[in-house]
Amino acid sequence: MVFDRLRKRDVVTWSAMIGAYAQHSDYQSALQCFKHMQQTGLKPNDVTFLSLLSACSLVGRVEEGCLHFKAMTMDYSITPMLEHYTCLIDLLGQAGYLNEAEDLLESMPLRSGTVGWTCLLGSCRTHGIVELAKRCFDYVVTMNSGNGAGYLFMSTIYAHACMSEHADRVKELRKQANAWKKPAKAFIEVDNQVHGFIVADKTHPHSQQIYQKLKALSMKMREEGHIQCPNLLDEGKEDDLFVHCEKLAIAFGLLSTPRGFTIRIAKNLRMCEDCHVDTKIVSKIEMREIVVKDSYRIHHFKDGLCSCKGYC
Ligand code: ZN
Ligand code: ZN
Repeated sequence: MVFDRLRKRDVVTWSAMIGAYAQHSDYQSALQCFKHMQQTGLKPNDVTFLSLLSACSLVGRVEEGCLHFKAMTMDYSITPMLEHYTCLIDLLGQAGYLNEAEDLLESMPLRSGTVGWTCLLGSCRTHGIVELAKRCFDYVVTMNSGNGAGYLFMSTIYAHACMSEHADRVKELRKQANAWKKPAKAFIEVDNQVHGFIVADKTHPHSQQIYQKLKALSMKMREEGHIQCPNLLDEGKEDDLFVHCEKLAIAFGLLSTPRGFTIRIAKNLRMCEDCHVDTKIVSKIEMREIVVKDSYRIHHFKDGLCSCKGYC
């Protein structure tokens, strides 16, 4: 390991190491690293704590996260930055402590802007909480009417709650505001060549085989009892379910690498719930390890499970 060979380990390299464990949803190793760093006489800084808090946030360690946050301010006299608060809001919200997350947002000494409220809105989507989501959504679009994620979260929450008229209204507002996220892209390296895919991409030279593979996978998934619900998706028809960019990249990876070979994908945005569920099933039926690094974390799919334990 590169870290083990480093002669000089300073607070930057330790913090990076803790951050890497966080990305892999390995809280215990992140914590060990944190303790080890202190044993060497180094003092953690704001970045170290951000890495540690994110390790807690990515696996739902609420109690530990709150203790680290407290220790940061009380024992180390580090003033929390917006990123620390956002991490804590995400930790509380994703773990179901939505009221506590809202209280923190309203009482914190820094103005969160849209980041914290969008984060809480994302947690409302995870837990299907409509009332609080509406408050978050109002804050978000009032502060920035071009926040594409806000509209997407809110319309999905309404769709989950079978409030399709409300969902349609939010989609209409999104159109009027012209609030679109940057286009999703997924990449895979095969034989030293990087292959990039966008949503519904048909430009790849092996496009035909890729779509055939996706169809075959879809049939196998149905045999496994996996039923997809198109109503919950932002982009319309059921056929579109197959063509999110990471699905194309994974199908290409399955076709172009030998059996047993781990498939590694990078994506510029966060994986959607649908792709996450499907990739777990694909890892099982194809007996492949699939690693997806999205904008939020690293997912290791194996035998029908993901390292994030659904905590995405
Ligand atoms: Zn997707
Ligand atoms: Zn995952």
